[in-house]
Amino acid sequence: MRPFLAHPFDHDKLHEECGVFGVIGMADASSFVALGLHALQHRGQEAGGIVTYEAEAGFCSARRFGYVRDNFTKADVMATLPGTIGIGHVRYSTAGSKGATAIRDVQPFFGEFSMGGSAIAHNGNITNATALRRELIERGSIFQSSSDSECIIHLMARSMGRNIPDRMEEALRKVEGAFSIVAMTRTKLMGVRDPLGVRPLVLGKLGDGWALSSETCALDIIGAEFVREIEPGEMVVISEKDGVQSHFPFRRMKSRGCIFEHVYFSRPDSILGGRSVYETRRQIGVELAREAPVEADLVCPVPDSGTPAAIGYSQESGIPYAMGIIRNQYMGRTFIEPTEQIRNMGVRLKLNVNRALIKGKRVILVDDSVVRGTTSRKIKDMILDAGAAEVHFRIASPPTAWPCFYGVDTPERSKLLAATMSEEEMRDWIGVDSLKFVSLDGLYRAAGVAKGRDNKSPQYCDACFSGEYPVAPSDMIEKGFEMKAAE
Ligand code: SF4
Repeated sequence: MRPFLAHPFDHDKLHEECGVFGVIGMADASSFVALGLHALQHRGQEAGGIVTYEAEAGFCSARRFGYVRDNFTKADVMATLPGTIGIGHVRYSTAGSKGATAIRDVQPFFGEFSMGGSAIAHNGNITNATALRRELIERGSIFQSSSDSECIIHLMARSMGRNIPDRMEEALRKVEGAFSIVAMTRTKLMGVRDPLGVRPLVLGKLGDGWALSSETCALDIIGAEFVREIEPGEMVVISEKDGVQSHFPFRRMKSRGCIFEHVYFSRPDSILGGRSVYETRRQIGVELAREAPVEADLVCPVPDSGTPAAIGYSQESGIPYAMGIIRNQYMGRTFIEPTEQIRNMGVRLKLNVNRALIKGKRVILVDDSVVRGTTSRKIKDMILDAGAAEVHFRIASPPTAWPCFYGVDTPERSKLLAATMSEEEMRDWIGVDSLKFVSLDGLYRAAGVAKGRDNKSPQYCDACFSGEYPVAPSDMIEKGFEMKAAE
């Protein structure tokens, strides 16, 4: 049974679309991959898949809808995945196919080549996938899914490279966009990060084995040591015989990691760009308190993603931190098939106000972002219903005014509140006493760039805030998307 995902609270957030994990040189690799994927579940809840290889059984694969814990803990499923090498993927449905994803779209994908098989899983988005797919189909390729990853398999099939890593290198030189890839052959685990390093990928070590993961929190769960990040534009090929070999198949470029990973996508217990994600989020709260102070009685997070920034705001302002909103952690599993009446309860299914605390108080609510704004409005209603004297929203990211085309599920531009309203208009529409967003410079400072954003050559991708896309979204431009006019 599919988990219930179309919750209005989730609908009003940007969503990372995937997490990837792979291991080599570990007995019972599939169990390690399942644990890694479980730790990456926040990056995709709709479906997951694991591929392993074992000499007698060959390549083995299991792909399922639903949570990792509901599928890849079952003895009968795990028994079908033998071997000491394996990769896995968790997926959040993309905007175009939401609710209609077929199991054939669930990664990893597999291709059989003359020199053996290869499985591949990716996080991110190939921004020229439509054009590549069209060209490949014209030249005879038969696609089985709607996923970008399959383009890579077909490009590899057409390559004249002598081995699979060579073919992957050649295929990826034709691909544009933001992607982190884990892939495997019978004897090698491979990891690739796009030239700008937009999406994350890290390397870990456990005993004689190695692991690749979207985030360090998934290395922690299997007890692996974090070795380093895969560098932007780097391809690592790992074998039990030769260890880690590093290649740089792309033109070297200045890195532009996704700044939203620091704000929301990554888990707070992960290390990203050498920094604790929790500490960056706490520091965003400090910046917000400096940039947008207000007299109030309490600082409350919108759980859970607003919590570290609320702590930072409270510490910097001296206004007490309190849990004014309580989150029901188990909602998602309770209402697998929600009725219309239950669906209409909206945010209340997941969040409830701590009335005894809020009554009569001037409350600062700290949230990670405002996307459509509908949830912010409902939360404000709940806080006022509970008797708050004033409600002030403080947002731990700049206004989200542009869609992401790099592997993040974003509403179309017209649905983003900040695309159509000024800050004052948003404040009035949400209906709060004040609304302030951290500045881009404040966000960069919190993420460790002391001087703030270099406007001539930004240190991060921040296109969803600035409209400055580091890789032109060529497929979307072909479909009519209008880029921001040059200033
Ligand atoms: S557009 Fe925003 S969410 Fe997308 S990669 Fe860039 S910073 Fe991240």
